[in-house]
Order: sequence, then C-alpha cells, then structure tokens
Amino acid sequence: MSYDPQNIFARILRGEIPCTKVLETPHSLAFRDIAPQAPDHVLVIPKGPYATYDDFATGASEAEIVDFTRAIGQVCALLGVGPGVGGGGFRLISNAGRDGVQEVPHLHVHILAGRNLGRMLNPPR
Ligand code: 5GP
Repeated sequence: MSYDPQNIFARILRGEIPCTKVLETPHSLAFRDIAPQAPDHVLVIPKGPYATYDDFATGASEAEIVDFTRAIGQVCALLGVGPGVGGGGFRLISNAGRDGVQEVPHLHVHILAGRNLGRMLNPPR
C-alpha cells in the first residue's frame, strides 16, 4: 500500500487535527481513539510514513522499531492494564489493507482494555 500523506493520522502528526494525546516519544505518538470500542482504546502510531505493520517492520530503522515497541509498553503501563502488574489485560490489534479492514492508511496499533473483549474474531460468515 503506498503512503497517502493526507491521511487523518498524518494530519494529526502535523498538528492539523487535534487528538487526546496519551504519550509522545521521539518516533511515536499515542492518542485516544475518537470512537472507543472499550473503556480504554488508545492508538499508537509511528511518526514515520508507514502504511502498515509489514511496511514498518521492513522499512523502519531499529531506533524507530524500538521506540514504537517501547511506546506500546509505556502506554500499557500508563493505563495499568498489564496482567503482570495486576491489570485486567488488553488486546493489541493492527489492521492492514482490504482484508484487515483498515480504515486509516497509517500504521496504528489499537490497545483495547477495560472490559472482557470476547473472542478475537467473529465466526466466518
Ligand atoms: P482501523 O480500522 O484503520 O484499524 O482503525 C482506525 C481507527 O481510527 C478507528 O478505530 C477510528 O475510530 C479511529 N479514528 C478515525 N479518525 C480518527 C480521528 O480523527 N481521531 C482519532 N483519535 N481517531 C480516529
């Protein structure tokens, strides 16, 4: 998927659209989803122009990959959701492309927590 610099998350990164920021690091930004599907629903994005996780994993620098991975951990810590620290747990999701039903074409990991999230996928139709 080619990168569209006019996507909504690129505009959030440029400060053209507001967001409820949870964390900012040198290479990553985390903010609350505008339409939360759980009591805690935070999106973590890299600042670089990557459309999907596989683009990022293939093309990002080691510094970006470490920063992004650590940012996810930091957000979990801020939310207090890690089972290892007494939290109730969480789910990470990163949708990609048509079959992944990706709405915004800038890599994002959803962190969902705060309720029992049920099974991962709906049964096939
Ligand atoms: P996707 O379906 O691409 O994995 O998820 C995109 C997510 O971005 C959705 O959960 C949607 O609610 C969220 N979203 C879309 N537009 C905005 C926005 O302008 N601000 C924020 N904070 N979230 C958005």
